Amino acid sequence: MIQRTEAIILKTQNWSESSRIIHAFTRKFGRMKFMAKGVRRTKSKFGAAFDPGTLSQVVFYRSIRSEIHTASEASVVFYPGQTCRTENLCFLAPALEVAYRATDLESPNLALFNNLLVLLKALENSPGPQHPLAEFCLASINNLGYHPVLDRCLDCRKPISEEQFLFSLSLGGLLCPGCCKKHGESVALTRPVLKGLDFWQQHDYLPPMETADSLFLIRLLAEFINHHLSGHSRLVSFKYLPRD
Ligand SMILES: [Zn+2]
Repeated sequence: MIQRTEAIILKTQNWSESSRIIHAFTRKFGRMKFMAKGVRRTKSKFGAAFDPGTLSQVVFYRSIRSEIHTASEASVVFYPGQTCRTENLCFLAPALEVAYRATDLESPNLALFNNLLVLLKALENSPGPQHPLAEFCLASINNLGYHPVLDRCLDCRKPISEEQFLFSLSLGGLLCPGCCKKHGESVALTRPVLKGLDFWQQHDYLPPMETADSLFLIRLLAEFINHHLSGHSRLVSFKYLPRD
């Protein structure tokens, strides 16, 4: 059966001398695998449509027997790298990796697809690419069903004191210093990061933040995702982000 969908290309895998398997997040069907025959040739009919980070229109034969479907046509709808600053592009790979890890094969997830699309568009002209990536990571965590508790200690339920904000990676919320000892791995939050998280919970977007605070938040969220998507390897592309 021939079908058509918009797809954001997440990653590719060489298959033969001329073919690749394309892992894409499609609008209609969720994450899918496509066989792209001839894509590695210089004059491929697919052009740049299967480059990671591209939003493309893909026409494919949907297989009933295999999870790999055969792409027959593809054209670029949008690629942030055409006009965005090169330094913004290193913020694209972590988002593609999170989208790959946070989705199941052929299980539609329109909310997360739209979140990723917002990020692609934001990278094109954002002066601070860390901000939309932090928002995408938060949206992914919500999409996975996690909603951090920020107004009290998760264990003893006491209101959190003014000085100490310890975020538990395993429990997904704040702990007081006393309870923190019982639960192991936790990260000390700064006040701006805590305020940012609190604002996000109320408004679904982040307030303006210093670059260093956004980068700290991104690394915290990557650790959280690593912790909760067990059984997989750790996220790798976050280590290539700038440190401050
Ligand atoms: Zn406590």
